Amino acid sequence: MEANEAKEKIEALRAQAEEHARRYYDEDAPTISDFEYDRLLRELLDLENAFPQFITPDSPTRRVGGRPSDKFAPVRHEVPLESLTDVFSTEELLAFGERIAEALPGDRQFDVEPKIDGLSIAVEYRGGVFWRGATRGDGQTGEDVTENLRTIRSLPRKLDNAPERLIVRGEVFMAKDTFAALNREREIRGEPLLANPRNAAAGSLRQLDPAVAAERRLDLIVYNIQLASRDYASHAETLEDLKAMGFPKVIPYRLYGSVAECVERIAWIGEHRDEFEYEMDGAVIKLNSLAQRQALGSTAKAPRWAVAYKYPPEKKPSRVLDIVAQVGRTGVLTPKAVVEPIRLAGTTVSNATLHNQDFIDKLDIRVGDTVWVQKAGEIIPEVVEVDRARRPEGTEPYRLPAVCPECGSPVVRDPDGAAMRCTGAECPAQQLRAITHFASRDGMDIDGLGPAAVEGLVNAGLISTAADLYYLEAQSVAALERMGKKSAENLIAAIERSKSQGMARLLSAFGIRQVGAAAARTLARRFPNIGALEEASFFELTEIPDVGPVTAQYLADWFASPQSQHQLRLLREAGVSFDSREEIADTRFAGKTFVLTGTLARHTRDEAKALIERFGGKASGSVSKKTDYVVAGEAAGSKLTKAQSLGIPVLSEEEFEAMLE
Ligand SMILES: [Zn+2]
Repeated sequence: MEANEAKEKIEALRAQAEEHARRYYDEDAPTISDFEYDRLLRELLDLENAFPQFITPDSPTRRVGGRPSDKFAPVRHEVPLESLTDVFSTEELLAFGERIAEALPGDRQFDVEPKIDGLSIAVEYRGGVFWRGATRGDGQTGEDVTENLRTIRSLPRKLDNAPERLIVRGEVFMAKDTFAALNREREIRGEPLLANPRNAAAGSLRQLDPAVAAERRLDLIVYNIQLASRDYASHAETLEDLKAMGFPKVIPYRLYGSVAECVERIAWIGEHRDEFEYEMDGAVIKLNSLAQRQALGSTAKAPRWAVAYKYPPEKKPSRVLDIVAQVGRTGVLTPKAVVEPIRLAGTTVSNATLHNQDFIDKLDIRVGDTVWVQKAGEIIPEVVEVDRARRPEGTEPYRLPAVCPECGSPVVRDPDGAAMRCTGAECPAQQLRAITHFASRDGMDIDGLGPAAVEGLVNAGLISTAADLYYLEAQSVAALERMGKKSAENLIAAIERSKSQGMARLLSAFGIRQVGAAAARTLARRFPNIGALEEASFFELTEIPDVGPVTAQYLADWFASPQSQHQLRLLREAGVSFDSREEIADTRFAGKTFVLTGTLARHTRDEAKALIERFGGKASGSVSKKTDYVVAGEAAGSKLTKAQSLGIPVLSEEEFEAMLE
């Protein structure tokens, strides 16, 4: 393609992408699927890569696949991102109104907005072009997530008629529909599910790879101008101006003459909160006049001119029809109450979590009971109370099953917790135990990666197999609960160090039946690496002391499994050493290179190769000056001729066998 032709095509594709983004947001009427949109961007990206002279910083491709920073840089907020004082009742809300009335006699207006349960960010525009975005952090300093923010289609990268300088505050969230679709996809792919939209959004925004962030399809609603080189009189005016500048999603607001008048609107939002595309955890009531806000100022903790009204979780009674135990991906059995369907916070609820056996025991929840079910921000409703007065006769306390409903294996209680766990080898429980074993002292001996840390990583969806450990990023680990930046970095460093543990530990870490630390060391003394072990014949394995036919079969089965092969490939690609660090028992061929040619009577080609490696030699496919021996079997061909011409010693099969004795 000629350069000018490419330029035209690039411009046409950009215009298309812009148009589709506009249809998607302004008109809520997308004419192409997300998939097609992504493909369009891909085509544009490919062209831009081929003709980099036409890349512009405002190209829509900068919204996907931007270069990830290896670490998020800190951003000092020019205007702090304050948090609001929470109020939990109408009384507290009215008291807020009275405080303002005392401080500011005269006319006042208040604005009511939904409070989105997402991630607070600040985005900065310079000359109307998106320049930088940062997370709230501690309100004073956040993280630079500019590249990931570029992946959000509701973040305009260029504004119309914007002030020269502009910092806007907004909330990044994952739409409830998107969240549900994402979890469906993850379920199909067998990946761990994400807990709730807020966590999903938080995790996505702090992904180091913008392509992953893009895949998560995050959204942005803006709701405050933090700083602008333009004068405004009121909050409502700023929101209208944000719309005019081209922000597709600006927080919906309504104005009222007093706090008392806001109450009805707050209640309405609460009742209809499930009809919003985002999760919300309250309503925000703000003073509208910016001059009045200025006059009131802030306390050390929060502005005096606004509060957040938190909705109480909705609670309704229902009857327990059944209690079932679900086996989670870490093997934990979670009891769930099947209840008579009720409408709760806008959705139909037909089951509720009972957490664990201790929880059931504490409330003495039984099949047939009338219980209060609550939905508190999280997706899964829970039983919070039993109405004992309405308990029918003949009910019995509930016990979790002693065998796993998934696989029939015995269920045991965690020694250090309330969780009941399946012990089955083929059960999801296996996943967690396998990774824990992998990291244990008998395995790769990774410091700081005990069962709790593994469970945290698995639950957060960061790993699902041991090999995934070697692909962890410190940043995403640090985002975990109870995991600071420092310990995340230490963990990553420990994982990195384990790469050179060598064959014996790696083999033991795999947890192959009968192949414990001792057997793994024996094998590592006989084979120079995992590859040589894999190629060893059954016969050869059984000849090794302490390795009987049963162990040989387990090894063969393990290597034959596609999961093992996948795991091996990932480990190899991550740079994990497969080589033995044990003293090889017999190194008679050390430093010698053999070439096999023709057909051997006593061994297959692979067996002979394994034998050479077992004694520390190397088997090569072609003859060169570096070849030490050529082993010539029946009907040897050109390799034999070449060896003779180079003067390389040629061994008959008998001579080769004699060397093996
Ligand atoms: Zn099981």
